[in-house]
Amino acid sequence: MTDTAAPAANLAINSDRLWDTIQETAAIGATPKGGICRLALSEEDRQVRDWFRTACEAAGCTVTIDALGNMFARREGRNPALPPIAIGSHLDTQPTGGRYDGIIGVLAGLEVLRSLNDGAYQTNAPIELINWTNEEGARFAPAMLASGTFAGVFTPDYAYARADRDGISFGTALDAIGYRGDAEIGHTLAAHFELHIEQGPILEAESRTIGVVTGVQSIRWYEATLTGLDGHAGATPMRLRRDALLGVARMIEAVHSVAMEHAPDAVGTVGMIENKPNSRNVVPGEVFFTVDLRHPHDDVVAKMDAEMRAALAKIATENALELAIEQTWESPAVHFNPDCIAAVRRAAEASGFTSRDLVSGAGHDSAYIARVAPTTMIFVPCAGGLSHNEAESAEQADVAAGATVLLRAVLDTDQRLIE
Ligand SMILES: [Zn+2]
Repeated sequence: MTDTAAPAANLAINSDRLWDTIQETAAIGATPKGGICRLALSEEDRQVRDWFRTACEAAGCTVTIDALGNMFARREGRNPALPPIAIGSHLDTQPTGGRYDGIIGVLAGLEVLRSLNDGAYQTNAPIELINWTNEEGARFAPAMLASGTFAGVFTPDYAYARADRDGISFGTALDAIGYRGDAEIGHTLAAHFELHIEQGPILEAESRTIGVVTGVQSIRWYEATLTGLDGHAGATPMRLRRDALLGVARMIEAVHSVAMEHAPDAVGTVGMIENKPNSRNVVPGEVFFTVDLRHPHDDVVAKMDAEMRAALAKIATENALELAIEQTWESPAVHFNPDCIAAVRRAAEASGFTSRDLVSGAGHDSAYIARVAPTTMIFVPCAGGLSHNEAESAEQADVAAGATVLLRAVLDTDQRLIE
């Protein structure tokens, strides 16, 4: 294990060049409110892909495209037989997306390549900069479709058949913009690093620059129906009511308490309720609601599941209601690679940036790539934790700090590969 985080002292990120590149590409799909609308495989996506290919080729890279439209810009290393160290994220956005989500991960990767060129530095392993297709899932659900297929979670046929709201399939849209490439889907990566805005408020609130991301939290989703009895709001005495909405109100409190019991890392949300018959003078007889439970560890989410089920059953009984609850989705916790995490931590320390460990609350391409390659992420702050919003904002200095940590973590990993 090397303890030199920066093997070449003359290497440095050019903060202004990186910032200018971010603002330059933000014009592609720019919205009046200062955000970006660049849906996967749209005309705007084609434009930014063309731009990306040209920029990577100008930086001396060979660009290949796989059959899902994932783009790989390769900068050759001293030993071409080594699997590449990858830097990846996404250039697609939500319909009212910001200028930084995903985009800084790809463009900081480009800045890393440009910095290596400036310093005439040759790595041992090849470096591969990746633009993953359809990370957002805004046009084609599910999210992280192409990185998931790269990692073997989905089949290519499943990916091609996903359709947007107009019935246009992923495969058709890929052909329409000319980005169904001929490279095989899936290849060995020595490592995968992804720089991303935090999309949450912690780094900003604690005035820290770098989030050392240790994983993605465990998630369970539920759908529940609580059944009581419709009754006249004037004529049904309080003690004889079977009020499903009152029951759900108490259940929302219970879900909140379960999450608070496992503070500070647990979260529990009732995000949707459908009240029936939803009439001002009827005691509600049936309510549908959803629950979302999350924590960094699977075993804690399993405990929260048991506690929530017990609490909800008790409330149902006490209020003469019938509860039907079903788990509809489970995404186990992702634990990023310890060597990659250590490389990011060393890079942040060596650069003199304040940092803290974080677990990602959101999904990312890295969550799937972690199944097939040593992976981790680097977070930088965004204003107010706001993301998936045109007002999403990040500071130039923070983005440059993230790029510096990315560069150093990649070089640190490259050094480890020859030991
Ligand atoms: Zn993203």
